[in-house]
Amino acid sequence: MTDSDIFNKNHSLLITNVVVDEKPVDIFVDEAGMFRSIGENVRSQYKGDAEFMIDGDGAIALPGFANTHTHAAMSLLRGYADDMILQDWLSQKIWPLEAHLTGEDVYWGTRLACLEMTKTGTTAFNDMYFFMEDAARAVDEAGIRAVLSYGFIDLFNAEKRENECRATERLASHVRAMKNPRIKTSVGPHAIYTVSPEGLKWCAEFAQEEKCGIHIHLSETEKEVNDCLATHQKRPAALLDDCGILTPRTVAAHCCWLDAAECSLLGKWGVSASHNPASNMKLATHRAMPYRELADSGANACIGTDGCASNNNLDLFEEMKTAALLQKFFWNDPTVLPAPAALAMATTSGARALGFGTGTLAVGAPADLILVATRTASNTPLHNATSNLVYSCSGAAVETTICNGKVLMLNREVPGEDAILTGAARAAGALVKRAQAA
Ligand SMILES: [Zn+2]
Repeated sequence: MTDSDIFNKNHSLLITNVVVDEKPVDIFVDEAGMFRSIGENVRSQYKGDAEFMIDGDGAIALPGFANTHTHAAMSLLRGYADDMILQDWLSQKIWPLEAHLTGEDVYWGTRLACLEMTKTGTTAFNDMYFFMEDAARAVDEAGIRAVLSYGFIDLFNAEKRENECRATERLASHVRAMKNPRIKTSVGPHAIYTVSPEGLKWCAEFAQEEKCGIHIHLSETEKEVNDCLATHQKRPAALLDDCGILTPRTVAAHCCWLDAAECSLLGKWGVSASHNPASNMKLATHRAMPYRELADSGANACIGTDGCASNNNLDLFEEMKTAALLQKFFWNDPTVLPAPAALAMATTSGARALGFGTGTLAVGAPADLILVATRTASNTPLHNATSNLVYSCSGAAVETTICNGKVLMLNREVPGEDAILTGAARAAGALVKRAQAA
């Protein structure tokens, strides 16, 4: 076996001398992709069993991060339009380009997103977009985990609603047939201003039948709240509750304009609230998610990047820092969202939101882990590892990424990286040309 064989399938792995909870330990991952043993001197017991040894000296091992709100293929739109009013940005730039998207574009955009996530320590994501069968193919090949939802948009039209229901069912059966434990579906009603109450109710019932999650945008802008009050005489979270959308399997993105009663409602149901601070700041939503009220109410506060057109990257290290800073700044209190809580949003809370394990390094659990270099300028000195992880270093400090026991990146090398960059850049260029020619 050569060194590059480490990437070709699951192997038993012995990671030596890596720091977990401030102590140097060894980690043994078996061929089934599970953590078999974590502790001091595990090497003496498992050295003979390991097909590959990974020198973890000087690195911190963490659970792989979970990005709980993405539109992965929008990586092709990175930098295409910035610094605009939300409505102009959507109607003049994003939607005209998206009208020309093909399944092949979504494949390449999702490959690019998975590459970026692998390189910055994310091993699971929650995606909503179109041509999701092609996204599923990309995730299957990339080796990370994803919950995929078709963006259900009926625009209050009964005929369109039927199409959206069938598309949602098709994706569910497609993913079921893939039989890949890393890939799941959820139902993706886009938002209350794009989906009718009838559509929302259908989504709630379908999710219940399928025992799958629900992925929705909630209270991103003040306009959404005011329009909802004018039309329904209630606030958005109450409308979602009436339609059966609030469940412990629901991930609600943004949640910027929730009031106290809505936070209680999300808490009562144990909904996951995905905080997307960079996107909110870039598009000037003018209010930060009420993190403390949501957390106190029992809601599961987690973190997401949103799509690359409004972020513009998928680096959850940056997002943890942005979340912690935005919360302090907006709520005028430096004690809100301390570093350990921000790290928990990207790990344990994210895993809970997506239903992928516990987001911890635990014997018997699937091995989703990253190794973060500490011998770097931004990680020196190391007075407090959690502080550095949240406030100082970036995804560039991730050396090695392992998902479901399979090595996806080793010492920053991801096999096939060049081909993915070339394919994605070519797809993005051709997409813009098609849109301009139309
Ligand atoms: Zn979004």
